[in-house]
Amino acid sequence: MTEEDAAPIDAPSTPGFEDLGITGAVLKAIKDLGYETPSPIQAATIPTLLAGRDVVGMAQTGTGKTAAFALPVLERLDVSQKIPQALVLAPTRELALQVCEAFESYASRMKGVHVLPVYGGQGYGVQLSALRRGVHVIVGTPGRIMDHLAKGTLDLSELKYLVLDEADEMLKMGFAEDVEQILAQTPTEKQVALFSATMPPTIRRLAQQYLRDPEEITIKSKTATNKNITQRYLIVSYAQKVDALTRILEVENFDGMIVFVRTKNETETLAEKLRARGYSAAAINGDVPQVQRERSVNQLKAAKLDILVATDVAARGLDVERISHVVNFDIPTDTESYVHRIGRTGRAGRTGDAISFITPRERYLLKHIERATRQEPTQMQLPTTDDVNSTRLARFDDAITAALGEASRIEAFRDIIAHYVRNHDVPESDVAAALAVVAQGDDPLLLDPNNDALSRAVDFDNRPQRERSGGRDNREPREPRAERRGKGDYAPYRIEVGRRHRVEPRQIVGALANEGGLGRDDFGAINIRPDFSIVELPSNLDPAVLEKLRDTRVSGRLIEIKPDRGPRGGGGRRDGGDRFERRDRDDRPRRDRDDRPRHDRDERSPRDGAEQPFRKPRHKK
Ligand code: AMP
Repeated sequence: MTEEDAAPIDAPSTPGFEDLGITGAVLKAIKDLGYETPSPIQAATIPTLLAGRDVVGMAQTGTGKTAAFALPVLERLDVSQKIPQALVLAPTRELALQVCEAFESYASRMKGVHVLPVYGGQGYGVQLSALRRGVHVIVGTPGRIMDHLAKGTLDLSELKYLVLDEADEMLKMGFAEDVEQILAQTPTEKQVALFSATMPPTIRRLAQQYLRDPEEITIKSKTATNKNITQRYLIVSYAQKVDALTRILEVENFDGMIVFVRTKNETETLAEKLRARGYSAAAINGDVPQVQRERSVNQLKAAKLDILVATDVAARGLDVERISHVVNFDIPTDTESYVHRIGRTGRAGRTGDAISFITPRERYLLKHIERATRQEPTQMQLPTTDDVNSTRLARFDDAITAALGEASRIEAFRDIIAHYVRNHDVPESDVAAALAVVAQGDDPLLLDPNNDALSRAVDFDNRPQRERSGGRDNREPREPRAERRGKGDYAPYRIEVGRRHRVEPRQIVGALANEGGLGRDDFGAINIRPDFSIVELPSNLDPAVLEKLRDTRVSGRLIEIKPDRGPRGGGGRRDGGDRFERRDRDDRPRRDRDDRPRHDRDERSPRDGAEQPFRKPRHKK
């Protein structure tokens, strides 16, 4: 480890949220959520926003950018003012919903704060009645916000805070004009924060034009890792993480392990789940008193404890030779933390293993890890039931061999068994099997390979994004458009706006994406004719999406979208592709950020059918 204990460069003394100026109910909510320390983007952005300055932040999902802008807004919110005070513009309905959920969780200790998502595809009724009742924060997609402004149903005259989230995505989706028009319709005296993963010239121009002397915040990564650490990752959704970890614990030959999670609460719950599965695990986090933390670390050193479930803060500087494995149960919010975490293994010239769980939506983080560590982590597969079973059988054999080595104890039982065999007339092998049944208890020794729901779920997560979701998660890396089109699974749709109506492709994409919940990848070629246009959309577009698009207007005209029958009435499908079977995905709000189920829908408890390990793993010596 070259820079192992160096604090992140942008947050040298790792301040707490209170040091950044977060107080009262907002601070309590952060504590409830178990956030221990601010992520680098939060440490840099929160004080600047609280001081009233505009901000341009280079940050992606997963860095904690939502809290970076949401906390300062909530900290200064005037709850008595019911005309919208804050507006967040987001490129997609999913992101709008996620940001809304985040705002709500950060405002959970405040009374009477109303946050409203406003996106295309949802009926106006709900939005109108909520707006009438009074809203403090609006999170919306540009097209629908524009519609409300045009209808006079959204009053932005009292707006104090405006956030452009994923600005580059918004522009890519053709929302540039809408964004600019919205900006122009807000009061001059307001604070603007712009977040973008990239800084192309168009974003720079936008920032120059609409932000006042913004502070530019970029979280740099300057890190390198030890070459003797093998980095692997497993694509797995949140719901499968505990079971996946259990399988890994069964087959990996580990000595000591640190499992990193994001929050203090999670250290406790995961350690408890691991203990319930038979592992010796303890939680350490910033709230655990120092004495107790030291005790746990000493137990780990002395092999009285095998697994520490930790947050970054609690594991800072930890130096235990015995740690053979680091597992990032949750991937950290910044690469510096990643490097520091994996540096807890491979100590004193030993080799180490780092395994990171990456949810399908976090795949893009792999590139950041690669850049920060200058190594390419390799993808690992979930251990199969066969892998687990052969490890269990090997351990079973070893247990017998070890017991046979205890001569005096064996001797004491030999006569008892011989007596049983004589009186019951059963072969000794049956008696041995019966004793194994007694020793094993109710949990089966082997997993059933024909009933491997976990592998099926993890395999699903490992499929390419387009296969899983219909290509609608616009945060995933995309294939070049030409290649996508080459697959030929688009069909032409006719809309009744054309060149005569001064329509441009980006307006069409923006309107259809916003109202129909389509992603950028859902669009093929757009051919603008004098009186109408032909838009290529997925060949098996859900009729419900078409229905939603019925009332869409572009350049003020109803588009009256329908499948194009072509000049000879043929038209329709260009091929029989069945790629888009799962159209309904985007109509459901995501369960939570980063695929996490809510707390009340927690993991199965081991008693109700989760895989039970055969026994505590053996230690590698
Ligand atoms: P975001 O980049 O805003 O989408 O956040 C990514 C994830 O990190 C979300 O699950 C947040 O709840 C979580 N998160 C944000 N800030 C922190 C923090 N300071 N400590 C722990 N987790 C955080």
